[in-house]
Amino acid sequence: MLRHLMYKIKSTGPISVAEYMKEVLTNPAKGYYVHHDMLGEKGDFITSPEISQIFGELLGIWFVSEWMTSGKSTAFQLVELGPGRGTLAGDILRVFSQLGSVLKTCDISIHLVEVSQKLSEIQALTLTEEKLPLERDAESLVYMKGVTKSGIPISWYRDLKDVPKGYSFYLAHEFFDALPVHKFQKTPQGWREVLVDIDPQVSDKLRFVLAPCATPAEAFIQHDERRDHVEVCPDAGIIIQELSERIALAGGAALIADYGHDGTKTDTFRGFCGHQLHDVLIAPGTADLTADVDFSYLRRMAQGKVASLGPVEQRTFLKNMGIDVRLKVLLDKADEPSLKQQLLRGYDMLMNPQKMGERFNFFALLPHQRLHDASQERNARQSKIPTSSVAGFDELVWQ
Ligand code: SAH
Repeated sequence: MLRHLMYKIKSTGPISVAEYMKEVLTNPAKGYYVHHDMLGEKGDFITSPEISQIFGELLGIWFVSEWMTSGKSTAFQLVELGPGRGTLAGDILRVFSQLGSVLKTCDISIHLVEVSQKLSEIQALTLTEEKLPLERDAESLVYMKGVTKSGIPISWYRDLKDVPKGYSFYLAHEFFDALPVHKFQKTPQGWREVLVDIDPQVSDKLRFVLAPCATPAEAFIQHDERRDHVEVCPDAGIIIQELSERIALAGGAALIADYGHDGTKTDTFRGFCGHQLHDVLIAPGTADLTADVDFSYLRRMAQGKVASLGPVEQRTFLKNMGIDVRLKVLLDKADEPSLKQQLLRGYDMLMNPQKMGERFNFFALLPHQRLHDASQERNARQSKIPTSSVAGFDELVWQ
C-alpha cells in the first residue's frame, strides 16, 4: 500500500486526505477493509454489537416500533450499510423472529451494502443457512444472494444506489466514520486543504503538507465557518441525500449511530491498530483510519427532504429503548456467574459515559409526515408528559 501511494504521489503530486483514506481503506486490491477481519478483541477495534447482544436487540425493536407506528406496511426492506461481521443484523433478525406473531403478515427482505470481500463471507456465515448454497456473481450489482437462517431473502451490494428503492428501514452503525474526509486548515491566506506528500528527508515516509493555493474541495466549507480546522466528508453527504430522497419517496426511516459531534470538533482523523492509537501515515493498510462524524453536516445534507432527529447520546437512546429491563430479563435467565459478569460488563461498556455511553450518538431520518402525526397525537391527548414520538429519542411506548 505504501509503495502504491508513493507511486501515485510521485506521478500526480500530493493527494487529498480523502483520497488517501479511500485508497488505504477500500482499494479493491489491498484496502484495509477489503481483505481483513478487523473486528473484535483480536482485531483492531470492537463495536457495540460485538460487545453485547442487547444492542442489536434494542435496534431490532426500534425498527419494529417504527414499522408499527407508521402503519404496518405489508412489506419492508432492512438495508444495512457496512454490516461488519453480520452480528448486528443477526441480533435484529432474532428479534424479528421472536416478534413473528406481530410481523407475520409482513414481507421482509435484507439488503447488505458491503465493499469487503472478506467481511461479506463472514456475514454470510453468520446470517445464512449453510445447507442452502449462496448465488454468487462478482460482475453483478447484487454480488451475492441467499436466504437467512429464519428464511428471509438476503442480498449483498457494493453501493447503496444498487439497492431496490422500496419502503425501507436503513441502518448504519460505525459506517460513516469510515468514509473519507477532506481536511482544511485556516491560514492568513484563507482555507488551505491538508494533503499527503512524500517526506523529502526520508524517502519511504509520508507527511502532511498544506496545498499552496485553494483546492476545489474548499467549496464544501460553510461560509460562516468559525473553526480554524475542519473535516468534511462529501461521500457521507451523497449517501444522506440518497437516503433522504428514498425515504421521502417510499417511506421508512434511517437510523445512524456513530461517534461524532454536532459541528464543533476540528482534528479527529486517527488510526487504530490492535486497539491502540496508530499514526495515520505509518504502514498504511495495516490500521483502521477513521474520523468523527459531523452530524450537523448530515442534517444539512438531508436538505429538508426528510425530518432528522438527534444526535442523542447512546446511553440516552438505549435507556429510552428499555436497556435496563432487557438486562434484567437476561440476568434472571443466566445461570452461569460468568455469563452474568459478561452481561454486566457489556452494559457498562455501552452505557458508561466514560466509555461508549456519551461518545456514540444516534441520529435518525424520517418522513416529515411521521413527526407531524406524532405531534398531532400528542396534542389530541393534551398531555403535558411527552409521549413517545419516536422511540429512542423519547421513551419507547408500545402502541
Ligand atoms: N457495523 C458493523 C461494522 C463497522 S466497521 C459493526 O457495528 O460491527 C465498518 C464497516 O463498513 C465494515 O463492514 C466495512 O467493510 C464497511 N465499509 C467501509 N467502507 C465502506 C464503503 N465505502 N462502502 C460499503 N461498506 C463499507
